[in-house]
Amino acid sequence: MQTITLSNGVQMPAIGYGVYKISNGEMPRCLREALECGYRLIDTAQWYDNEEGVGKVVAECHVPRSELFITTKLQSGLRVADRIDESLRRLRVDYVDLLLIHWPMGNDAATWHSMESAYGCGKVRAIGLSNFYGDDLEKVLRQAEVMPHVIQQELHPFRQQNELVMRYRQMHIVPQAWSPLACGRQNIFSNPVLTRIGKAHHKTAAQVALRFLVQSGICPIPKSVHKERMTENIDIFDFLLSGEELAAIRALDLGHGLFGWYD
Ligand code: NAD
Repeated sequence: MQTITLSNGVQMPAIGYGVYKISNGEMPRCLREALECGYRLIDTAQWYDNEEGVGKVVAECHVPRSELFITTKLQSGLRVADRIDESLRRLRVDYVDLLLIHWPMGNDAATWHSMESAYGCGKVRAIGLSNFYGDDLEKVLRQAEVMPHVIQQELHPFRQQNELVMRYRQMHIVPQAWSPLACGRQNIFSNPVLTRIGKAHHKTAAQVALRFLVQSGICPIPKSVHKERMTENIDIFDFLLSGEELAAIRALDLGHGLFGWYD
């Protein structure tokens, strides 16, 4: 698995497996298949209500803990230290690899300081933000003693946020893409530009979209419950998009999000 090095030296897989909307019941089959396909980064959240399902697979699978990269997310608020411990218990681990604030809530600087403490005592190996823009982002950055290692947000060919991504790069923050396949919107899987480029490389539109992100230094976390699609989505490390192809995909940017929130 290709990895990307975070600013603190931690190695993060260049692609991950998102588990939003996978229930605790479905999790064993889906996550075992994802691990068989080669995924090592698992992206969950307290809000997804499926950390127990992830924990069961993590405890029973044959992949050593050190080879897994587990991300979870919490919401800002009180009892952050307790809620981190609750996630660790549900996930059946003694550390998570990445902990994110899921979305801004106004009291995020205090939450960030609690996360810095958890980072300091080894309960989390990296910390970051998700869906933070404008003032919400600046407030955390101004007060942070540990700068975010990763920022996760909506990123795909139709929502590229180039200026922000460039700024993260200058700050040594790794951008991570949620809904990297636009959750199927805008007919992404039959988009003429992605399909044409895919044909030239014997790849699908989905693979071109994911390759575009990886080649731009952005880590996608696609989700699928179908093993053949999990296999397809991770099979993107054996081809290179040309400058011309990258430019054609850059032109697909709509300049706004597709999900009606955090624009
Ligand atoms: P996605 O862009 O990964 O699209 C997933 C959907 O696309 C699947 O449900 C499936 O129907 C389809 N699909 C996947 N691979 C395909 C393929 N090769 N061919 C055809 N169809 C395919 O969208 P997502 O699930 O919304 O996002 C992925 C992950 O990102 C989530 O599971 C979650 O972990 C994370 N996420 C985080 C936030 C956040 O606020 N931080 C928000 C949304 C999602």
